[in-house]
Amino acid sequence: MLFAGAAGLAAATALPVAAHTAAASQGAQAGQGGQAGQGARVVQPAIDTTAQWGARPPDGTISLVRRRPAALVVHHTVSANTSDFSRAQAHSHARWVQALHQDDNGWVDTGYNFVVSRGGYLTEGRHRSLETLLGGTEFVLGAHTSGANDFAIGISNEGAYHDGAVPPAAQWASLVRLCAYAAAQYAIPATEIYGHKDFGNTLCPGVFHDMLPQLRDEVAAALG
Ligand SMILES: [Zn+2]
Repeated sequence: MLFAGAAGLAAATALPVAAHTAAASQGAQAGQGGQAGQGARVVQPAIDTTAQWGARPPDGTISLVRRRPAALVVHHTVSANTSDFSRAQAHSHARWVQALHQDDNGWVDTGYNFVVSRGGYLTEGRHRSLETLLGGTEFVLGAHTSGANDFAIGISNEGAYHDGAVPPAAQWASLVRLCAYAAAQYAIPATEIYGHKDFGNTLCPGVFHDMLPQLRDEVAAALG
């Protein structure tokens, strides 16, 4: 199977804990100046960097969009619905996605900005996506949603959800945390969370699309 290499690696420890609150970041500070402090209590989730998961270098230039994104777009990666919920598996999956996008699609790097593992680990997708999220003023141009890449962040979920599978609880919880944090950093309303199929003829993101109303509600609650 695709993920055989991850099985023997280090067992997962407890899920990563938050390091900072959005209020401590540059983006939220900017928001305090005129945007009613949206998300002042949203906690920054731990996100493993490209260096941490052992990404290859980009095959070309990483382009930044010099403004905040206006939307979040949810995807699934159509990988196996593994029962390995470890951090090692999250990293292995991140490398698999990058290789697919670079070698098969011919893209410079992973198409998504962020990926959520079935075990709930968050990984940076395309290089520089994390540093720009922390900055809160610009974002990395991804390759995830034709027609929306220049105004939306792409967040993908490990697994295949177009044929009846439902996301594990840890994955859902981490997706909510990441969406809430990104919404706070970039002052994106919870109503501006979409699924890939809103923009094109695709099955992506499967059941996550049916769950978008719940996702918007939970993100809105987190934003307070
Ligand atoms: Zn998609």
